[in-house]
Amino acid sequence: MSKKLIVAIDGPAGSGKSTSAKLVAQKLGYLYVDSGAMYRAITYLAIIRNVLNNSEEISTLAMQTDLKLKYEDGITFVFANGKNITGEIRSVEVNNNVSIVSKIDGVRKALVSKQKEMGNLGCGIVMEGRDIASVVFPNADVKIFLTASINQRAERRLKEFSEKGIDVNKTDIEENISMRDNLDSTRELSPLVKAKDAFEIDTSNITIDEQVEKILTIVNKIAGNKT
Ligand code: C5P
Repeated sequence: MSKKLIVAIDGPAGSGKSTSAKLVAQKLGYLYVDSGAMYRAITYLAIIRNVLNNSEEISTLAMQTDLKLKYEDGITFVFANGKNITGEIRSVEVNNNVSIVSKIDGVRKALVSKQKEMGNLGCGIVMEGRDIASVVFPNADVKIFLTASINQRAERRLKEFSEKGIDVNKTDIEENISMRDNLDSTRELSPLVKAKDAFEIDTSNITIDEQVEKILTIVNKIAGNKT
């Protein structure tokens, strides 16, 4: 049997990370981890506890909260100290604050450490985020960086919101994506960057099946070299 790999998929919001990472993990029989869900969970907790302007309190939340991700039937279920907050972490309010919370050093340290533990389980893993190839798993076997035009990314998010019955307009989504791109790529700690040994795939004009196919071709090639 071939070696179980660590596959890191990074990219900005709406670049197709989640959709393709889930399918790639499914095809490979690997564990799928949405690291963004963890930053969203801490942001949600900071909002309901009213500590959004207190970095220390937020870092403590990140360290002390028992955060569990459970991926089932295409959905990442998120539990914080046993409470299911899967729907809550996708709200517009969380969207608007998550890039601020994810800049905090204590938050990143706590969550990166939990993510590394998942990689140490020894099973194959596909983890998606912003700093997976650069910081969480700098020795990942496969590193993929996805990009797409802002227009295409906003269209995708708009579709996701409307499928959930949430009424938002495209201009607001574009503004939120641009704001998050800017904060995520210019922050001092673990900014969104393409790792120098990552394969870049522009998903603007390709289908999901094509994205998945391209990633699997890269994974299989690397897996073949490691057996
Ligand atoms: O992937 P998603 O858009 O759900 O991530 C939400 C936010 O979490 C990002 O905009 C970013 O601020 C933060 N994030 C991060 N590092 C990761 C994953 C997400 O800083 N590895």
